[in-house]
Amino acid sequence: MQLDSKSPTGPIEKRWEEHRFHLKLVNPANKRKYTVLVVGSGLAGGSAAATLAELGYNVKCFCFQDSPRRAHSIAAQGGINAAKNYHNDGDSVYRLFYDTVKGGDFRARESNVYRLATVSLNIIDQCVAQGVPFAREYSGYLDNRSFGGAQVSRTFYARGQTGQQLLLGAYQALERQIGAGTVQMFPRTEMLDLVVIDGKARGIVTRNLITGKMETHIGDAVVLGTGGYGNVFYLSTNAKGCNTTAIWRAHKRGALFANPCFTQIHPTCIPVSGEYQSKLTLMSESLRNDGRVWVPLKKGDKRTASQIPEAERDYFLERKYPSFGNLVPRDVASRNAKQVCDEGRGVGETGLAVFLDFRDAIQRLGKHTIKERYGNLFDMYQRITGEDPYQEPMRIYPAIHYTMGGLWVDYNLMSNIPGLYVIGEANFSDHGANRLGASALMQGLADGYFVLPNTIGDYLASNKFDKVENSHAAVREAESNVTQITRRLLEGKGTRSVDSFHRELGKIVWEYCGMARNAAGLKKALSLIPPLREQFWRDVKILGSGDELNQSLERAGRVADFFELAELMCLDALERNESCGGHFREEYQTPEGEAARDDANYSYAAAWEYRGVGQPPVVHKEPLTFEYVHPAQRSYK
Ligand SMILES: Cc1cc2nc3c(=O)[nH]c(=O)nc-3n(C[C@H](O)[C@H](O)[C@H](O)COP(=O)(O)OP(=O)(O)OC[C@H]3O[C@@H](n4cnc5c(N)ncnc54)[C@H](O)[C@@H]3O)c2cc1C
Repeated sequence: MQLDSKSPTGPIEKRWEEHRFHLKLVNPANKRKYTVLVVGSGLAGGSAAATLAELGYNVKCFCFQDSPRRAHSIAAQGGINAAKNYHNDGDSVYRLFYDTVKGGDFRARESNVYRLATVSLNIIDQCVAQGVPFAREYSGYLDNRSFGGAQVSRTFYARGQTGQQLLLGAYQALERQIGAGTVQMFPRTEMLDLVVIDGKARGIVTRNLITGKMETHIGDAVVLGTGGYGNVFYLSTNAKGCNTTAIWRAHKRGALFANPCFTQIHPTCIPVSGEYQSKLTLMSESLRNDGRVWVPLKKGDKRTASQIPEAERDYFLERKYPSFGNLVPRDVASRNAKQVCDEGRGVGETGLAVFLDFRDAIQRLGKHTIKERYGNLFDMYQRITGEDPYQEPMRIYPAIHYTMGGLWVDYNLMSNIPGLYVIGEANFSDHGANRLGASALMQGLADGYFVLPNTIGDYLASNKFDKVENSHAAVREAESNVTQITRRLLEGKGTRSVDSFHRELGKIVWEYCGMARNAAGLKKALSLIPPLREQFWRDVKILGSGDELNQSLERAGRVADFFELAELMCLDALERNESCGGHFREEYQTPEGEAARDDANYSYAAAWEYRGVGQPPVVHKEPLTFEYVHPAQRSYK
């Protein structure tokens, strides 16, 4: 299979404009003749559905929550990047492009990243016009703060609830279209299969999560904005409902899955406190603007933070990376936290934590300012840990947070299945092997508001779409596939809960394909996952029926897909004999313990083709070329 990225050539700053000009257009009067199925109503799906409907297309939008307003995007705390240069501190579209390519450890397409940086400017204008209440300076201009991997302040924020405010903006735009009748909204509806006819994506099979009713929806194109798969690890900062089912089932219908092993560990999360836990909580990266990360100099030092004098503290990020200090990118900060804990210098009862200390910032700026900037995050920390971060440092440890891998898409955000578009965290584009903080919201909204609405028209205008009846063999086959999966899950007479399997799978993936990986561990994971998957199918116990609200049935289907995905992640990690970004193979590191890339052999996106459960998948390679930001060892010193 030849992967055609459709990446334009020529001067990079003109590529998107030129490309757009050459895309075919759908006449405004003809747009309503096309139906687009948008699965997902987070920032990516919600913005796409609203914009497509505003353009005149007939849109059906699906989400599994009770309201589009509850998509996981609502959890985003810290902010959204844009190269506005309001602070006049040297930012530019080019610098955002440069930081993102470098931050992603040279494993993303330059053309996509440049477009993302360009469009970042429009996003802020659009959101302000919608009334998103971004923080403002005294003068009235929008305020900015810094995020990791950048030396400028380009992160727009609304306290520690930026995702919520942005989603309210997109949600209102979506509701307007729902009210106008141009978007038909299907909440509490889960996509369980993709219908492919004559090689084109033409529909989806869904299950109504309240009644259990299966339905097929036919359209002219399908858009997946279904989020990331971080919950494969069981414990993660993602909302509990986040899952891989939509993209995994599309993968099983032929969509290539790119770079599944590129997962992001976020350095600042509340540490795991016990076996009973089912969720981890993020403490936003924005806190590293003012918080200082440290551990005791001595191993096994059990004194409280206030008992440890300044001279006996190791501000290890500031020491090792003086230029970026506490704001090094996430992969670098996470690895360093792990390293000091592995040395026996971790803090707290388990020793698996480092301090994030606001003492100096409170002394410098006053408690009031810190409260104004991060009040809700401090409250959240206090409620969960029972400790007051205004009085003593937070304890934090890295945790799974984001997935850079996802379905492969070309420059138009179309997968290798014609008519199947993938946007937001669900696709693999733009962030390479490590995403910079505050860039996920930027990408989701860039895709939904500005990129997809342009590119999808070209596809619709260039193709003919025959009417598809529900009696079509492909529809019936997809429906029967979904029915069989549900029946198989319900018929099992097992003894174990879905969660117990998920937890066990998550432990394997975290242990062997988490923050650090090596060949022996990955091979071990690949020997452990298949028997556990088989045991899952034999021994899982699901109460209730398929004709009602049944959350353990819902979860079982998702966990079944996580099993298959986990195997692919480990295989991808094993095949990539280099370290890059969040993919840290212990065998490949510099003498200073930094990721050692192998550009000669691995400068490509690995796009995997599905060949059946337990069958070896086939890898296709999209070579990456860098004309502008030349690959070099990343340095944040
Ligand atoms: C705690 C936390 C804080 C974060 N903070 C920031 C931040 O400050 N800045 C930043 O840039 N990024 C941040 N991120 C990352 C960012 O929030 C996400 O990457 C982004 O919101 C994903 O948006 P999305 O639209 O792609 O997916 P989501 O918001 O996850 O939406 C997915 C949608 O798809 C639907 N869906 C999924 N599967 C199906 C299915 N099978 N059938 C039907 N519907 C389906 C869901 O119902 C939902 O509507 C944070 C992430 C976390 C976990």
